[in-house]
Amino acid sequence: MPRLVMKFGGTSVASVDRIRNVARHVAREVAAGYEVAVVVSAMSGKTNELVGWVKDADPLYGAAEYDTVVASGEQVTSGLLAIALNKDGIKARSWQGWQIPIHTSDAHGSARIEGIDPTNLDESFKRGEVAVIAGFQGVNPQTGRIATLGRGGSDTSAVAIAAAIGAERCDIYTDVDGVYTTDPRVVPKAQRMERVTFEEMLEMASLGAKVLQVRSVELAMVHRVPTTVRSSFDPPDAARPGTLICDEDQIVEQQIITGIAFSKDEAQITLRAVKDSPGIAAAIFGPLADANINVDMIIQTVSGDQSTTDMTFTVPAADYERSRAILDAQRDTIQFGQIEGATDVVKVSAIGVGMRSHAGVAAKAFRALAQKGINIRAITTSEIKFSVLIDAAYTELAVRTLHSLYGLDQA
Ligand code: ADP
Ligand code: ASP
Ligand code: MG
Repeated sequence: MPRLVMKFGGTSVASVDRIRNVARHVAREVAAGYEVAVVVSAMSGKTNELVGWVKDADPLYGAAEYDTVVASGEQVTSGLLAIALNKDGIKARSWQGWQIPIHTSDAHGSARIEGIDPTNLDESFKRGEVAVIAGFQGVNPQTGRIATLGRGGSDTSAVAIAAAIGAERCDIYTDVDGVYTTDPRVVPKAQRMERVTFEEMLEMASLGAKVLQVRSVELAMVHRVPTTVRSSFDPPDAARPGTLICDEDQIVEQQIITGIAFSKDEAQITLRAVKDSPGIAAAIFGPLADANINVDMIIQTVSGDQSTTDMTFTVPAADYERSRAILDAQRDTIQFGQIEGATDVVKVSAIGVGMRSHAGVAAKAFRALAQKGINIRAITTSEIKFSVLIDAAYTELAVRTLHSLYGLDQA
């Protein structure tokens, strides 16, 4: 029998009523002849609440106990969905990450999946059961402790399980009916895409489109798992297919730019009057790398007197204070004048595989943003995307400007 993974996010399982609705979507696929594994998130808001409790108990909490607490949200929904399915006459049982088992690294709070043994699921399917799996969690085989996969990690559980059991497809059900050209909550004119390439989806997710966790797209791409994003709010008997994430050669008409993403999780740091001598970049970025801080955009400007330079770069907003402290501690080695920073910034990015074969795509954006009076603080480009760092106050204006500029307002 063909196999299918269905994943339901927080808003899709937000109440017992919503869970009954999920059971009907699952019933449809069982009736269509699939062996089904369902992956569920915690009820929406639950994980935030659990994280809040942990921080309340101790702001310097231990990461393994954090995981013990935050993984519990998914335990609840997996049990409730199994109960709802059983009530509807569908054989089902719940599975926690450690029961399958889903083996992870020991990086508590943002663990990576290292292996999934499909034996138990195979046997469960043989017994004719729907496997209802708690997303977001696994177990570290060395310590036997529960580990979670980072926020939004149920997407990654779903794709990893699809690869492990050889599923025909992984369907990610959420509160929107597909992947849009940009966040539909910010730009009402955003258009749903029929298809998007793995590469573009990976960039969109890494550059801020929270519809899929980045790691889930990586896994889908590596294991070639056809993955869709679709709505759990469609009637179960008339569910639409959503957006398919697939290989480039499965897409007939390709735009130059397919999507705009933005991320507010950025902070800018500028070191002024840095002594301009060989090894200076290593002196600045070495200690940040040692502290596991990901530096993204980097701009170095040569100052008038030729002996000093200004260095501007971005770090994740969560690492801002830590980065400043590390640099301050290295002041004697690096030799800089002042350190300045800004957290009210946003990174806006345009993504499209068509950029590979078209020149001047980014230049057009710089002009359009200038005409709106938006100052660009930093720029980065790569093969299929470019990003600009701007003041956060201009987020919507910039996203809408680029969305229109590249013809994405029309279907
Ligand atoms: P779930 O709880 O189901 O995992 P998420 O909140 O994680 O749902 O992801 C769905 C949300 O992603 C949507 O409500 C939407 O606001 C947001 N989003 C951001 N960018 C996009 C995009 N390009 N296309 C669709 N949704 C997007
Ligand atoms: N419940 C987890 C979170 O809120 C995982 C997920 O929903 O994917 O991050
Ligand atoms: Mg999500």
